[in-house]
Amino acid sequence: MLDLEFYHNIPKKECRECGCEIKEKHESYLYECERCIGKNEEY
Ligand SMILES: [Zn+2]
Repeated sequence: MLDLEFYHNIPKKECRECGCEIKEKHESYLYECERCIGKNEEY
């Protein structure tokens, strides 16, 4: 139950680079939109 509430409380993801809303279901550790991820090839 607590886990479900936790997921419901997750705010909308915003790209930390350009600030746009991330609608795609990226992995939870990603905080950038596809465009910025493509530009930043750090991994
Ligand atoms: Zn972005």
